[in-house]
Amino acid sequence: MTDSVRNLVVVLGDQLDRDSAALADFDAKTDRVWMAEVREESDHVWSHRARITLFLSAMRHFGLAIETEGLPLTYHALSRHAYDSLGQALAADIDRFRPRNVVMAQAGDYRVQSSLTDVVNASPASLDLRSDNHFLCSADAFEEWAGSRKQLRLESFYREMRKRTGFLMEHNGPVGGEWNYDRDNRQRFGKKGPGLPPPWPSFQPDAITADVIAEVGETFADHPGSLDNFDWPVTRADARLALQDFVECRLATFGPFQDAMWTDQPFLYHSGLAAALNLKLLHPTELIEHAIEAFERKQAPINSVEGFVRQVLGWREFVRGIYWREMPDYLTRNVLGAKQPLPQFYWSGDTDMSCLRSVIGQTLDHGYAHHIQRLMVTGLFALLLGVDPRRLHEWYLAVYVDAVEWVEAPNTIGMSQYADGGLLASKPYVATGKYIKRMSNYCENCRFDPDKATGEDACPFTTLYWDFLERHQSRFARHPRTALQWKNLERLGADEKRAIRTQSERIRKQFE
Ligand SMILES: Cc1cc2nc3c(=O)[nH]c(=O)nc-3n(C[C@H](O)[C@H](O)[C@H](O)COP(=O)(O)OP(=O)(O)OC[C@H]3O[C@@H](n4cnc5c(N)ncnc54)[C@H](O)[C@@H]3O)c2cc1C
Ligand code: SF4
Repeated sequence: MTDSVRNLVVVLGDQLDRDSAALADFDAKTDRVWMAEVREESDHVWSHRARITLFLSAMRHFGLAIETEGLPLTYHALSRHAYDSLGQALAADIDRFRPRNVVMAQAGDYRVQSSLTDVVNASPASLDLRSDNHFLCSADAFEEWAGSRKQLRLESFYREMRKRTGFLMEHNGPVGGEWNYDRDNRQRFGKKGPGLPPPWPSFQPDAITADVIAEVGETFADHPGSLDNFDWPVTRADARLALQDFVECRLATFGPFQDAMWTDQPFLYHSGLAAALNLKLLHPTELIEHAIEAFERKQAPINSVEGFVRQVLGWREFVRGIYWREMPDYLTRNVLGAKQPLPQFYWSGDTDMSCLRSVIGQTLDHGYAHHIQRLMVTGLFALLLGVDPRRLHEWYLAVYVDAVEWVEAPNTIGMSQYADGGLLASKPYVATGKYIKRMSNYCENCRFDPDKATGEDACPFTTLYWDFLERHQSRFARHPRTALQWKNLERLGADEKRAIRTQSERIRKQFE
């Protein structure tokens, strides 16, 4: 039995922020920080080993930093195999420390928050659950904005956030006169490709990370993904360097080539900051302010800077609002009735479709793919094939180092799979293989032809696209945002439609 503490302050693996609301009034004389590595957090989806490594290494670095600062800390290491779940571990330590309060910032997962809330409610301690000051729009502010609106659309939320924060605003209007520069931001690389984009900075494993890599390699030997390339920032100091490097070396070109893809070029001009951001090693305000300063110094054009701010201030905050508004049943949404299992090759990259081989290959190698690769390659194929969105959600949550449920689930279930019936995206993101051909060089090394919908060398994306239009005609043909796209079905004759249906059935059978 230990002397009781006033506050037991829970810090989860994605709450590694010394300025967190949970630590705001920390008193080392009466309070104790509580952190735990438990198997369930790496096992509830079949996590990529780099994702597990990133979380554990960043947690250990953070634990060490606060202990060095003099904050009392209880830290459960995975290797002790003491507890299977966070709930079990917390219940045991509430018995041990008898805290008056368990303090925490709101968790990123509904599942985790519910289980910890239940544990505290069943104990003599009180729960002091604080709004997460990492976000620029609190759950309450989102509710206020969403109110009784019939439709929740990014564009109006984003403008509201610009006005509310004053970012990229002048004389009550948007800097540069436009809210949106997307028209300048959809460029592809020419025939010669991107050349040699400035490489991402590399953060070679220190002793702590090297230990975690060894431990994860052994404990999670059967999990997917490589550990050979692990060089993600795991401390705030390194994350700051990564931010600086992005702003100096890649931000200026980020906008125009945001949607472009190229074989063996996994990173291009993207920031790679989502993982550090989602672990809370960085605050979104830092990213936005750095990007705006680069614009003011004339180091980056408005289309790149606005494009970046839109992702961080707009999309990131928007999807979080949707997540907390719609959970817990959001994960079960499936308005298109998709039932197909996830094809096995999503875990191996073993497919003759070159775009999927490339994107899944880099995902397994690095735990990374950029937005359009996720949305318009792996996501698009699953949508067209009719994969059960829950299974796809589990895959996205498992394989990316930046994956945390509050951001992953709305992107997968809403934006990518339209499983929420258009709550998040006004229309399904569907296209033929010709979109991939236009935005990448993947098709050049592929045995399929993106222009063909039927026949031996027909591109499966193209076949399944037309089949998707036909299968979902009654839902979308009269919808104002999709009617034009569905009208194209009229171009197909009865024989062609029949051939597409048969070929689509064959593809679906192949991946059952
Ligand atoms: C199916 C699917 C699943 C996704 N899962 C995740 C996830 O688990 N975690 C995650 O952080 N992002 C997710 N995204 C959004 C986006 O793909 C990633 O944030 C981005 O690819 C991360 O790479 P980056 O840091 O280089 O981003 P950049 O291209 O450099 O973009 C800058 C930042 O903007 C933010 N951002 C960009 N797009 C989005 C978006 N749609 N939603 C929220 N934030 C965004 C990210 O924080 C990102 O770091 C997903 C997208 C899709 C389509
Ligand atoms: S032809 Fe089709 S399957 Fe092959 S790379 Fe292009 S889009 Fe992908």
